Amino acid sequence: MINLVLFGKPGAGKGTQAAFLKEKYGLHHISTGDLFRNNIQNKTPLGKLAQSYMDKGDLVPDQVTIDMLEQAVDENPKAKGFIFDGFPRTKAQAQALDIFLTRKKMPVNATIALEADDDILIERLLNRGKTSGRVDDQNEEKIRNRFEEYNIKTAPLKDFYSAQQKFHSVNGIGSIEEITMRLTHLIDSL
Ligand code: AMP
Repeated sequence: MINLVLFGKPGAGKGTQAAFLKEKYGLHHISTGDLFRNNIQNKTPLGKLAQSYMDKGDLVPDQVTIDMLEQAVDENPKAKGFIFDGFPRTKAQAQALDIFLTRKKMPVNATIALEADDDILIERLLNRGKTSGRVDDQNEEKIRNRFEEYNIKTAPLKDFYSAQQKFHSVNGIGSIEEITMRLTHLIDSL
């Protein structure tokens, strides 16, 4: 079993790369952003709650996010491992994930950050916003707020996972194929 956490600012390519990695390593991909968006589409109470935060580019509160993530893991007992995409994004989430996975005897093997400059990310997100319909991708101010959330709440997780010798970073600039190669090279060396 292998459990990977994909880190990176919005637009870094986590979702795109997770789609390749899940096929290559036979893992189950969980994106908390996608789970929230499914809830919004299905007009669930969780979706309504999440939308008010997501539309502004703010993080959804920890406990609802943690509960949703744990449920998604529990719904896949036969998975050979998981790619966590966009989770954890705060220290409270990282601590909850550690406790949850340790109890299940399937700890995180590695966390990998996809690194790219803000200017490149903004360009990618505004482009994605033209076709994705995502409100949070269509406005530079909201995008900058998402970066701010990342810098304040998510970036400190680097220290959290470095202390466990589980933090790795990968250059997220280049073609999709190049970045997939960097990631698979790293994962194969774990
Ligand atoms: P993403 O698709 O990963 O860019 O996430 C889109 C939005 O969903 C974020 O801007 C947050 O509002 C919300 N979200 C996704 N994952 C989390 C998380 N782990 N904690 C809190 N909010 C989240």
